Amino acid sequence: MSRRFTFKGGIHPPHSKAQTARLSIEVFPAPGKVIIPLQQHIGAPAKPVVKRGDRVSIGQLIGEAGGFVSAPVHSSVSGTVLSVGPFPHPMGKQVIGVEIENDSAEEKQLLSPLNKPWREAAQGELIQMVQAAGIVGMGGASFPTHVKLSPPSNKPIDVLIINGAECEPYLTADHRLMLERTEDLLTGVLILKKILGAKKCFIGIEENKPDAIKLVNKLLSDSLYKDVTLARLGAKYPQGGEKQLINAVTGRQVPSGGLPMDAGCVVQNVGTAVAVRDAILGGIPLYERVVTVTGPTVKNPKNLLVRIGTPIRLLLEACEVDFKATQKVIMGGPMMGIAQSDLDAPVIKSTSGLLVYDKVQPAIREYPCINCGRCVAACPIHLVPSRLAKFIEKESIDEAMEWNIMDCMECGSCTYVCPSKINLVHYVKLGKFHAQAKRAAATNK
Ligand code: SF4
Ligand code: SF4
Repeated sequence: MSRRFTFKGGIHPPHSKAQTARLSIEVFPAPGKVIIPLQQHIGAPAKPVVKRGDRVSIGQLIGEAGGFVSAPVHSSVSGTVLSVGPFPHPMGKQVIGVEIENDSAEEKQLLSPLNKPWREAAQGELIQMVQAAGIVGMGGASFPTHVKLSPPSNKPIDVLIINGAECEPYLTADHRLMLERTEDLLTGVLILKKILGAKKCFIGIEENKPDAIKLVNKLLSDSLYKDVTLARLGAKYPQGGEKQLINAVTGRQVPSGGLPMDAGCVVQNVGTAVAVRDAILGGIPLYERVVTVTGPTVKNPKNLLVRIGTPIRLLLEACEVDFKATQKVIMGGPMMGIAQSDLDAPVIKSTSGLLVYDKVQPAIREYPCINCGRCVAACPIHLVPSRLAKFIEKESIDEAMEWNIMDCMECGSCTYVCPSKINLVHYVKLGKFHAQAKRAAATNK
């Protein structure tokens, strides 16, 4: 346990977690009305299976998966469907969602539980329940979990990594979950390990969470967890990136353009592991999650257990945000989070936090590149951001692709360290957009 795992590259922004790291998770009351988007995951949107006037219960299916790479959506309250239509979405666009008026009856309609102990269930049965529960990656990527748990037979998985890094500054939702639902987390880990048939499992936790490391390690001493090891991770951003975590813990490299399964690994977030446990043992679909509400203009920061579909404005009000002083609200962390333009947008399955700022940095003047190489040293994917930015500036998309622009994970580390204040991640995102359009055009020819 004394060994410290890390990766090459990355940055050290201030952790800024003290505001909420010691605050227990509080249950946020279900709101009078929820708006539950049918697109909360990577892949095809779910299709509505309810209409205006229908009565629904907590956990009832309201949107069926739109394909294999998709996830069903469930009601987070009991009540009446007011409408199905376009609503503000945290990604900044209008998305079809289901508006439900809460009758506060708290009636539930959960999934049928397994008719046998989970250890005796077949892998397929367990995956089916994970799929039916609408579980997606809760660390932010929101990739449907059942897809990750179904790698093709020519990609055997021998290592499962549980991601408890929570490397984004400010966020503490995963930290609190590891402290407050430790046994449930470890049960989820064993279920995931069984599904994948992985020989080995690592739980990666950054060393800035010593209480979580101590507690998880104590429980792991039970022989039940003999193939599960705690990996103490260096506190560095983006330690929680899948490729960085795999490299830090196993020494393996995910090849350019490849996926974790190409390195024999699957990575699952701690919140996802708990959700898997709840689905398999309790038949509970994913209709609530832990959200950290924090930042300079929050008077009363909290870690909250929130129903999916709760408008973010209600959380900000409950945490006594000074709206007059607030200039920016971000869903997620400061490095990779999404700025919010409409506070009526709801909490979704991937909402790890709401970060509220009083100052927005004025547009910063960019200076010429001085070839210092800091962006290259910081890039966790070992790209050359300065060169990629130059390619994009002169619209040389092919050259940018040859220099693996599509491998960029948009972590922002390059921009963070650049002394010339060049917004490198902006150039790279733009380049990826053009490269994707070019690929799509070539496919459609
Ligand atoms: S090029 Fe992409 S992956 Fe590399 S540091 Fe910049 S944003 Fe991160
Ligand atoms: S960090 Fe900025 S100034 Fe330094 S090489 Fe990269 S782009 Fe140029």
